[in-house]
Amino acid sequence: MLLSTPWFFRTPARRVVANVFVLALLFNCRCAPKQVPPPVHPPNFDANRAFENLKQLCDFGPRNHGSESKLRAEKWIQERLHEAGAEVSLHEFDYTPVQSQNAEHFTNIIGRIRPTVEHRVMIGTHYDTRSWADHDPNKELRSTPIIGANDGASGVAVLLEMARIWKSDPPPVGVDLIFFDGEDFGREGAEDDYFVGSKAWARDHPNYKPVWGIVLDMIGDSSLQIRKERISAEKAPRIVQRVWEAAERVRSTAFVDKKSGAVSDDHTPFLDKGLPVILLIDIDYPPYHTTRDLPDKCSAESLGQVGRAVMEAISTQY
Ligand SMILES: [Zn+2]
Repeated sequence: MLLSTPWFFRTPARRVVANVFVLALLFNCRCAPKQVPPPVHPPNFDANRAFENLKQLCDFGPRNHGSESKLRAEKWIQERLHEAGAEVSLHEFDYTPVQSQNAEHFTNIIGRIRPTVEHRVMIGTHYDTRSWADHDPNKELRSTPIIGANDGASGVAVLLEMARIWKSDPPPVGVDLIFFDGEDFGREGAEDDYFVGSKAWARDHPNYKPVWGIVLDMIGDSSLQIRKERISAEKAPRIVQRVWEAAERVRSTAFVDKKSGAVSDDHTPFLDKGLPVILLIDIDYPPYHTTRDLPDKCSAESLGQVGRAVMEAISTQY
């Protein structure tokens, strides 16, 4: 993901000021407790199973471009989708990086749930991890590939657990689960090299028009707080509202009713085509793009909060 927010707005000092402001508001509030309706569908997302998925992906090792670990992860994701009864396909493409003459090969993985249903929702995430821990506090580790427990594995973990549940309890609509490659392929000075999987997907499938969609990225942080990503909120406000209302019904308190800065990610190529696909992300994650982005920084509880909210948003059908 690429931030458009100045770093200053995410500093601890800024957060302290914000927290003091929120506390002041709370002490002044005399309003009656809000009545929250029950879930449309009882939550059956198994957070512990999702967390096992996350750990399994991390056990493969860094899933950066060109690695054996990424190939193993690709195979494993396909096996899990087959087990869940999804219709599995691959979207393979070549991309020549900005500062290179040589084309590189990439693979998006697609798992279609209820493939014959016309009304379709797209739920995406990236499964690759970054080749360079360029934010690592230890300079010697900055060219080391990252494990990406949160940045890469968390979204995959949630999508695969949803697929498993839908085998015996299918959603009311068709769902396309897309595991994008090459999201974190870019680096400073070569920003066009980010999100190559979702950009290629959008380019190669001009007639692909899901009714709506969600991209998950970095949603496993054990102190998860998801704010409304600014571009999603501007371009697809009804989907943002749908997801936040669903989160409230399933008591997923990690969803905060505030906007974050603008973030470019795998939802961007869809929004650019006018398709209402939003991003769920918590950008406030200190191990971001470091070798410390490991399972111990993530939690089953966080994956469960997101999984329950996304499944509930889909359960509302239209
Ligand atoms: Zn990343």
